Amino acid sequence: MRELQDRFGRSFHYLRLSITDACNFKCQYCLPNGYHPDGKPRFMTLEEIRRVLLAFAQVGTRKVRITGGEPTLRKDFEAVVDLAANTPGVQRVATTTNGYRLAEHAKAWRQAGLSQINVSVDSLDPVQFQRITGDSRFDLVMKGIDTALAEGYDKVKINVVLLKEHNGDQLPLFLNYIKHQPVDLRFIELMETGLHHDYFQRHHLPGAVIQQQLEQAGWTLDPRGPDDGPALNYSHPDYAGRIGLIMPYAKDFCATCNRLRVSAIGKLHLCLFTEAGIELRDLLGSDEQLAPLVARLHAALGQKHETHYLHDGNAGATPHLASIGG
Ligand code: SAM
Ligand code: SF4
Repeated sequence: MRELQDRFGRSFHYLRLSITDACNFKCQYCLPNGYHPDGKPRFMTLEEIRRVLLAFAQVGTRKVRITGGEPTLRKDFEAVVDLAANTPGVQRVATTTNGYRLAEHAKAWRQAGLSQINVSVDSLDPVQFQRITGDSRFDLVMKGIDTALAEGYDKVKINVVLLKEHNGDQLPLFLNYIKHQPVDLRFIELMETGLHHDYFQRHHLPGAVIQQQLEQAGWTLDPRGPDDGPALNYSHPDYAGRIGLIMPYAKDFCATCNRLRVSAIGKLHLCLFTEAGIELRDLLGSDEQLAPLVARLHAALGQKHETHYLHDGNAGATPHLASIGG
């Protein structure tokens, strides 16, 4: 097996697989007007997803994250988990979800092979939560997190997008929550996408602001593991949970890139931002196409750039992250 490597010596063992663009939430920074399909969406079928997984496993993928849109909106979500977990070579299956179905399904998904869950919760205040996401089911989402913890998932994480006017001053609330809950909080710096320049200008809050507050409060940076991505992880002896910071605008963020993305319509994205996607779907129709599919993946890696050029104001071809999975 020849593993995927790019021109800069980076290896790619982590696939973020989007299975739908659709979403039932209206997060201000992502789909402020809700999801409106452009014509009739043709998301990959289960068979096509199976072939994507097989090809990526052949070139070294060990971890798969199922994302979207909201991945759990798909009726066959559990079947996708099962497929990923049973793909030879894949060791960990994760998902990123808004959590509205978690309380009901955490057990079944765990049994199907899901081992890690990231739930997006941008505020621990229900009113604020609704303002940001357009959804009133804060309690249900939090119950889902409790259920996932009780079901023994290997990791339960909460994703928080940092938003200056909404949650920039809520670190104490979040810290209080993880005092006794073994949950990893991940603060994600708002990224500018094609559709929301003004929103970005108003709400972008550098992760370094949180980093400074953490360090002052005695949190210490954990050593990097060999498979760690770009997040900086912090821990503190008095807290059950940990904190991760994702700062895409920080220097050297791209140096530890270890992930590739496939969109719900079967395009390979080498970076969240820098290109419009490389077609894979014409090679997903039959098992006989596995070899050319693998060859296309290797060839594509030759085009991966060293960095995302976000610093130069490049918001890329991505209109919003629901179209590519975040
Ligand atoms: N619907 C699921 C959810 O919200 O968790 C999965 C898809 S969502 C696109 C994946 C992650 O991207 C979420 O944690 C979301 O908060 C984050 N995200 C979306 N738009 C973003 C942006 N402009 N900047 C930073 N993070 C963003
Ligand atoms: Fe939906 Fe996730 Fe985007 Fe929010 S961040 S609108 S939950 S896809």
